[in-house]
Amino acid sequence: MANISFTSCSLVFVIIIAIVFFSKKRIITIENDIFSRMMMLTIFGGILEIFNYFLVVNEGLEQSIIYYISSKIILVYYLSWGILFLYYISAISCKKNYKKLFIWLAVISTLVDVFLPLNYIKDGMMLIPNGPSVYFVYISFLVYIIISLILMLKNLNKNTLKQYLPLLAYIIIGGIATLIEFLNPNLLLMLFIHSIILYLMYFTIENPDVQMLEQVSLAKEAAEKANHAKSDFLSNMSHEIRTPLNAIVGFSESLKEDNIPESAREKVNDIIMASNNLLEIVNGILDISKIEANKLEIINKEYDIKSILDELVALTKARIGDKGLEFRVNIDKSIPRVLYGDNVRLKQIILNILTNAVKYTKEGYIDFTVSTVVKDNICRLIISVEDSGIGIKEESIPKLFSKFERLNVEKQLTIEGTGLGLAITKKLVDLMNGKIIVQSAYGKGSKFTISIDQRIIAVEPQVTKQIAASESKVVDANGARILIVDDNELNIKVATVLLKKYHFNIESCTSGLECLAKIKNNTKYDIIFMDDMMPKMTGRETLKKLKELPDFKIPVIALTANAITGMKQEYLECGFDDYLAKPIEKQELERIIKKYVNKINSKSANSNMYKETKSIFEKEFTIELPILSSEKKKTDNKSYKGKEILVVDDNDLNLKIAEKALEKYEVSITSVNSGSACIEKAIEKKYDLIFLDDRMPELDGCSTLENLNTIDGFDSPVVLMTASTQEGVQDKLDKYHFDGFLPKPFKKEQLEEVLDKLLK
Ligand code: ADP
Repeated sequence: MANISFTSCSLVFVIIIAIVFFSKKRIITIENDIFSRMMMLTIFGGILEIFNYFLVVNEGLEQSIIYYISSKIILVYYLSWGILFLYYISAISCKKNYKKLFIWLAVISTLVDVFLPLNYIKDGMMLIPNGPSVYFVYISFLVYIIISLILMLKNLNKNTLKQYLPLLAYIIIGGIATLIEFLNPNLLLMLFIHSIILYLMYFTIENPDVQMLEQVSLAKEAAEKANHAKSDFLSNMSHEIRTPLNAIVGFSESLKEDNIPESAREKVNDIIMASNNLLEIVNGILDISKIEANKLEIINKEYDIKSILDELVALTKARIGDKGLEFRVNIDKSIPRVLYGDNVRLKQIILNILTNAVKYTKEGYIDFTVSTVVKDNICRLIISVEDSGIGIKEESIPKLFSKFERLNVEKQLTIEGTGLGLAITKKLVDLMNGKIIVQSAYGKGSKFTISIDQRIIAVEPQVTKQIAASESKVVDANGARILIVDDNELNIKVATVLLKKYHFNIESCTSGLECLAKIKNNTKYDIIFMDDMMPKMTGRETLKKLKELPDFKIPVIALTANAITGMKQEYLECGFDDYLAKPIEKQELERIIKKYVNKINSKSANSNMYKETKSIFEKEFTIELPILSSEKKKTDNKSYKGKEILVVDDNDLNLKIAEKALEKYEVSITSVNSGSACIEKAIEKKYDLIFLDDRMPELDGCSTLENLNTIDGFDSPVVLMTASTQEGVQDKLDKYHFDGFLPKPFKKEQLEEVLDKLLK
């Protein structure tokens, strides 16, 4: 029985491997697929060998046709196993799936073997299969092994050796086993060999299990979450740092324009410079983290290259100040004026290089050259900045673009910097598919050359002329009306100070709700500057509500400290007309003013009719404004102490707004949220004034008043509060004899008018 025990043990062994293999979720690869087929085939082969053995031990059956067929099937099993093994070797060697080829090979080999004659040799009680059919199997095996060896030799290196271990084992163990079987044909060792090879394959197969991948994906998710948290943190930090910076820069700028002593002016300049440095650092850190999180996007659009270069020259001149450097500018005159690309990033790249040149050059010159190569509709901008500064050691040049890396530290102890500028510049140049080259002679100077390709939109377009024309206009708002919406009073002050000199008529409010109230009351503004991060109602939410109003056409500009990269785009996508980051940069502010004031002014220039309408508005302003301010003075110390007021509204938020507005007048307020509750209260107590909402479920304002009038001795004045438009309101007031009317939202003055009239 020795022969069958090898086969039985091997069969159990393979079944165990199969159970372990299939019990784990795995990625389906060609190797895995072949391996699982080999296991199934081996199990089938094992069962067949055992069956065959029982045919032999049951005397007489070995002569039968069943034994013949069973022997043939076993031979086909051997052949198929060999083919699958070769298929496996080809899969790990060529990383390609030759499935069809191997199917054909299996079919043809099977057919050949089936038709070849099969003989038997008697060995003791066993009939051992022999003859051409068996030789064909041996020869096929030999060929498969040779092909496998060739494939192995072609692919073999340190990394792949492990994968070929089953093949090497197959050759060695298979060789020995064939020899043993030859000497003792009673021993059936083939299944034993197959099980060992399968066992080896189980461990050598490249088998990333799903669990591991799931862990990797969980880790990735966690990392993404952490990254998100980092971005949020940075965005908040940016906001928090920018808000006080806004006040510092804004006030310093305005202080500079006041009549202050020279010594103070110097200090103010230092404050501005230090604040701008701090701002640059904040921006740099934000940029680099955006780049690292792959969140930095290149936003392409049409732009006027000439105006960008002019601006860069102006900025650099300002930076050079009285440093006494010669600034040579050499810009190719044939440069196409309208290009397509990310102008903001292009400007940032060039400005970084120019700023460094100014920073690291004490005396001598800075040479700024822009040349172009035009091919088809592509313009290659070649920008070079050469300076006669401290230069960079040759060995330091490779470190130049690493973040937080500052070179020549001993030479530049007094020069401020973070070592982020060039790292950002390089990343941006890469993102724009450009190139940057550095040449330097230590102690003599450096030259940075950048090349960036941009699409040409127009060589000499109208747009540019318009831009140029508009730029030359003197900015004066002629009393155009501006509303600043910001929850931070200090920010309002800064913006007011900065905008004042452009002769704007400035109003402000500290919440989205107030802004909505103003607009709903038909107050006309030419521009609204809107902060975003405000409690209760953010700038975005306010804008959404504003846009829902019929005929709302006022340009709304996001004025926000939320200034990380990409924010501008986000705000524009939200529907804001433009974007201004805090701290407010004078240049940016002027750009916006030019853009929107010019719009207003050009409208007025184009049509006399508009001019007239505008002058009417101006009259309105002059009539309204003094009244407002004088009213304000009066109301500051107004008090209706001891007066009892009942406010009725089904909307809790409206109740809160009314309570808040009334609080200042030291009245005692009772709020209820339905008509029936109002009637109950009125029966209990006599109120000095009742504010009654118009639209409420069950009992509306008018029906409630009807009911109130039926109460014995009821004579409290009742004011109708309604959010509906003026239409039909007068009818209601007359029909139901309300004592007054208050629109929702109401202005302070309107409320005071009612209180004055009805409480005195
Ligand atoms: P930062 O200027 O904030 O230190 P950068 O990334 O812009 O950071 O520059 C990295 C370093 O490269 C600088 O610290 C300086 O040593 C060197 N460097 C950059 N530009 C120049 C230049 N034009 N001349 C000499 N050294 C330069």
